[in-house]
Amino acid sequence: MRYFSTRDKSKSNPFSLADAAFAGLAPDGGLFMPERIPEVDMERVMAEAEKSYADMALYLAQLLFDDVPQDKLEAVVRGAYDFPVDLCNVGDDYFTLQLFHGPTYAFKDFGARFMGRMTGLLNDEGPLTILTATSGDTGSAVAHGFYGVDGVRVVVLYPEGKVSPLQEAQMTTLDGNIHPLRVKGNFDDCQRLVKSMFRDVELRRDVRVTSANSINILRWIPQAFYYFYGYCVWRKMTGREEMEVVVPSGNYGNLTAGMLAKSMGLPIKGFVAASNANDVVPEFLRTEVYSPRASVHTVANAMDVGDPSNFERMMYLCGDDVALLKSLVKGYSYSDDEILSAISEMKERYGYLSDPHSAVGYLATKDSGCDGFWLSTAHAAKFSEITKQATMEDAPIPERLSEMMTRERKYDSIEADESVLAAYLREK
Ligand SMILES: *Cc1c(COP(=O)(O)O)cnc(C)c1O
Repeated sequence: MRYFSTRDKSKSNPFSLADAAFAGLAPDGGLFMPERIPEVDMERVMAEAEKSYADMALYLAQLLFDDVPQDKLEAVVRGAYDFPVDLCNVGDDYFTLQLFHGPTYAFKDFGARFMGRMTGLLNDEGPLTILTATSGDTGSAVAHGFYGVDGVRVVVLYPEGKVSPLQEAQMTTLDGNIHPLRVKGNFDDCQRLVKSMFRDVELRRDVRVTSANSINILRWIPQAFYYFYGYCVWRKMTGREEMEVVVPSGNYGNLTAGMLAKSMGLPIKGFVAASNANDVVPEFLRTEVYSPRASVHTVANAMDVGDPSNFERMMYLCGDDVALLKSLVKGYSYSDDEILSAISEMKERYGYLSDPHSAVGYLATKDSGCDGFWLSTAHAAKFSEITKQATMEDAPIPERLSEMMTRERKYDSIEADESVLAAYLREK
């Protein structure tokens, strides 16, 4: 399988998987897409899903990554997907696919763990440094996803005092090939530092660096797999055969991965893009005008994106046909007050504690009359300050998380200075 940029309309510049993965963004500024979308055998998908998530994911991964040796791909998939994926009946006819049972309690584990292991496999040119800046969640998913991968070290920059104690614990208690760097500055400083390292020609001669952001093909593609799994379990539970999926969205990697699953032959009728106050995509679906803007801060902060990177993949997957996109995706957006009320409503009516992102999915499910399920993207304990605000109660903390909070935190501290970071990368 070769990969092309969404902007390379004549398909004149092919990339191998490794080149596309290590580049992240295509040189022309577009996003990578596989050259063709393989067709699945749904009978086979359902049979594999009966065995396990990993078995089903392996079947799908073989179709998409057809030039990776089967035994190697199997090790990647079985290593990455060793945690449960549950379809939960919240109450009445409301279903949600819980994607938060991985090590960092958010759905980003599905992409990050696959990417970490695949990067280790594809990297045959010596030590590689994954350099990433985080405001919290991405850093922990990437750190855990690459933890213990041979030949790869992760340097993750986060702003001192700006991430939650839980997020900091998730990044700083691993050790090994994970190097957390606490930066005296804010998230923008962290991002500026990372960008300047990628521009530093001399540094890049000495140190092989790449990024692990969410548009990366190795993080994006495996997110299609849980749509298949959710379908199989939902169909078995309800006896219905064509579903809709509500996707709490920010950068739209998740939703566009669902569109990929549909293109591969999964019987999905349509999607609902559920957003917080950052509603560029729902607005586009209403007005056909795309107007990116600065993001606003909300209680569902992992979805605070004002110019979603994957919008380009969304348009690509519907052949730039806006009418087609509008028939496939409905958009809804919610204020902070609505999200907080939804959390308390779910608690009162169903005894179900939801994190704020997944609560946006619940709201859009109610309003759209969706026949299917919403994706639950994070565990409530990860956003316990918000759930407490909504329910007046403390969220129960899973044992694995509270144990992590007690472990020793190890990190290096640096000033927000380019030369200090460059020296660190050379010496460490
Ligand atoms: C990243 C994230 C989202 C948004 O996913 P996108 O793929 O960026 O649309 C939603 N919820 C949580 C908890 C997240 O971490």
